[in-house]
Amino acid sequence: MNIDAIDGLYVGGQWRAAADGRTFTVFDPATEKPVREVAAAGARDAATAVRVARESFDGWSATPPRQRAEVLRAAFTAMHENAPDLARLITLENGKAYRDALAEVSYAAEFFRWFAEEAVRIGSAFGDAPQGGFRHLVRRHPAGVAAFVTPWNFPAAMATRKIAPALAAGCPVVLKPAPDTPLTALAVAALLTEAGLPDGVCNVLPTDRAAEVAGRWLRDERVRKFSFTGSTATGRILLKQAADNVVNVTMELGGNAPFVVRADADLDAAVRGALDAKMRGGGEVCIAANRFYVHHTVAAEFTARLGEAMSSIHIGPGMDDGVGLGPMVNAAAVDRIDRLVTDAVRRGARVAARGPKPDGPGWFYPATVLADVPDDAELMHTEVFGPVAPVTTFDDEDDLVRRANDTTYGLAAYVYSADLAAALRLADRLETGMVGVNRGLISDPAAPFGGVKQSGLGREGGREGIEAFLETKYVAVDWP
Ligand code: ADP
Repeated sequence: MNIDAIDGLYVGGQWRAAADGRTFTVFDPATEKPVREVAAAGARDAATAVRVARESFDGWSATPPRQRAEVLRAAFTAMHENAPDLARLITLENGKAYRDALAEVSYAAEFFRWFAEEAVRIGSAFGDAPQGGFRHLVRRHPAGVAAFVTPWNFPAAMATRKIAPALAAGCPVVLKPAPDTPLTALAVAALLTEAGLPDGVCNVLPTDRAAEVAGRWLRDERVRKFSFTGSTATGRILLKQAADNVVNVTMELGGNAPFVVRADADLDAAVRGALDAKMRGGGEVCIAANRFYVHHTVAAEFTARLGEAMSSIHIGPGMDDGVGLGPMVNAAAVDRIDRLVTDAVRRGARVAARGPKPDGPGWFYPATVLADVPDDAELMHTEVFGPVAPVTTFDDEDDLVRRANDTTYGLAAYVYSADLAAALRLADRLETGMVGVNRGLISDPAAPFGGVKQSGLGREGGREGIEAFLETKYVAVDWP
């Protein structure tokens, strides 16, 4: 794959300029310098992309599932073959450590493999009417053109998590990546062409005019599925817009994951899990551990060990050797984290550990562990989205559950305990779509990812992931 070939909007298998010639700039978070000028799609480009996608629908949806699966499988292989280039691109525009970027490429590729395997198992059903006289034929059809808006924290995986099931189901797609990280999604689309995907089935429109492009898609009757990953605030706006055309939506929104350490937990395992759940991608992860509830008998020990582990992670430009913590995605992200930490300290939190911050340019935020964080600190209720671990203690489990569930979010939670039955009981009581039990890494393309409450609607991955792109058609057959 030639990364330098990435040049503009990717529509109909071709690189194009925006209809009005507008461009925007992509920056390297490690240097704060511009790295690429990219075409900025507007409403006209959004409409063109939907037309192109719709024109490819009949052909792609009629392509036998086995053949669709083979394209997806080839895309899986192509992503692995191009892993170093793709990971470099992710680090360049997102900032994350190269080792995290490589892990992301592998995770992202896995969606192609998983949904290649699902494409041939869509199936249909046949039944007899209970009262006799006729039969039920229940078919599964691809929904139609699917439109996606994705965030910057996983530039490859958030694209493939949506693209792969849509293509497996027979739906063509249009995708708008985040303005901070448009290059990786463009590279993925070009790789799909190399893997044999017909032109027009996967179209990617970078832009800094998000509302214009997404708004155009949600007003277009040809768009039959909309899937968004991003903040709850933006999700709410898009959900309202989707209501006008009654567009079927999937929403993966914000989280506020509690990380619970019971008194009987293996503390070494809990610290390792905490690092996985907190520090992957610099903490810019929607399922990142956001608040640590540690039993008061082990809190001092856990906090000290976590502080030691977090502050010894090597911070620096993501491409440098040994770096485990790169810069945040942009200057606004650093300001936001800083404001949340300042608020917590003002309300009585103590800085238990703080890692170094490199000299020179780059949007860096040092790994930070806060102890004695009061429940009313803002960061206990908002996504921190950075390398900050606020620790508080608990005594009684009922009180813990009440505090952990006292949030409008419900994406993920983590529980550490040597008593599996107790951990599973606790997992049942936490109001979230996902729980890690003695595990800090929970994402798996073969499992349903998603949240409850204001963390989202629907699930991606797993068996559920492809369902979002299928419509059910029931045919009543007169057959005595
Ligand atoms: P974050 O705060 O993490 O950047 P956002 O929800 O703002 O989360 O961004 C996620 C995605 O939503 C990005 O692709 C962004 O461009 C897009 N986006 C932001 N605002 C809007 C909007 N009003 N309409 C459509 N898309 C939007």
